[in-house]
Amino acid sequence: MTEKNDTPLVETLNLTRVYGDGEEIRALDGVSMVINKGELVTVMGPSGSGKSTLLNMIGALDRPTSGSVWVNGEDLAKVRNLDSFRAQTVGFVFQLHNLIPTLTARENVEVPMMGQVSMGERHRRSKELLALVGLPDRMRHLPNQLSGGQRQRVAVARALANNPPLVLADEPTGSLDTEAGRALMGLLQEINRSQGTTFIAVTHDPAVARQTNRVLVMEDGKITREDFIGSPIEEDLKMWRHSGLGRRIVEGDFDGVLSELDLSDPWVDSVRTFLQVTDRMET
Ligand code: ADP
Ligand code: MG
Repeated sequence: MTEKNDTPLVETLNLTRVYGDGEEIRALDGVSMVINKGELVTVMGPSGSGKSTLLNMIGALDRPTSGSVWVNGEDLAKVRNLDSFRAQTVGFVFQLHNLIPTLTARENVEVPMMGQVSMGERHRRSKELLALVGLPDRMRHLPNQLSGGQRQRVAVARALANNPPLVLADEPTGSLDTEAGRALMGLLQEINRSQGTTFIAVTHDPAVARQTNRVLVMEDGKITREDFIGSPIEEDLKMWRHSGLGRRIVEGDFDGVLSELDLSDPWVDSVRTFLQVTDRMET
C-alpha cells in the first residue's frame, strides 16, 4: 500500500488550447489545477467541454497553445524525447480499447514493454498484470474472444505495463454496460490503492464519478466545479441538508430549486443522491 501524499504529480497553469484559424474554438480556456501523487480523479462535463483535450495535453499527445503542464516534475514544453517520456510516465486507456486484434491478451500487454525491458521480464510482467486485472486465465485469448469489459481490463493492464506513475483514462467505461463500467472503475480504485498509481479518468456516469475521491467538472474549456468526496465540503453538505432548501431536495421537491441555486442538473442530481444517502444513514 502506497501512502497518499501532497506531492504534485500533474500541474497545469493557464492551460489553453485553441483549434482552427478562422473560427476559433477554445477547447481549453485557462485551466489551472494540481493533481497529487496517489489521487484518483474523475473528470465530468458535457460533450465538447474539453475533457479529451485536457487529457491529451497532460499525456503530451498534443501541445498547448499557451500555458504549461508539468508531469512528474517535468515541464512538458522542455521534454526532449516525448516518446520516451510517454512510455515511462503515462499509461493511456481509451473508450475503445485499441487492442491489436491479431495479438493475444498477453502480447497486447507486452507491446509497450518492447524495447524497454528484456523478453523474460516482459513475460513475467504481462502474466502478473493480467492476474492483477482479474484475467489470469485469458492470457492466450484474442481480443474478439473477450467481452467488452475484459478487453478494457486488458487495456488497463497494457496501460500499466511500464509501471507509470500516471494513467489517463478517457471514458474507459463509455462502451460498457452499467455493471461492467462500475466493475472497471472498481478495478481502477483497487489498483490506485494497491499500486499507488495516480488516475485521471473521464466519465459520464455520476455513479462512477462518486466512486472516486475528487471530481473535476468541465464546461466550455474550463474547470467550473470541483467536488471532494469524503471531505470538509461533504460535512458542509450534511449541515446543509437540514436547511429548508436541503430538505426540499432530499424530499424530491426541487421545482424551482434549480433556478434558486443556479446549478446544472447533474450537480443537483448528485447533491440529492448524496443528501438522501446521508439522511438514510442518520435516521
Ligand atoms: P470532450 O472530450 O469534453 O467531449 P474535446 O476535448 O474532445 O471535448 O473537444 C473540445 C472542443 O474542441 C470541441 O468543441 C471540439 O469540437 C474541439 N476539438 C477537439 N479536437 C479538435 C481538433 N483536432 N480540431 C478542431 N477542433 C477540435
Ligand atoms: Mg472526449
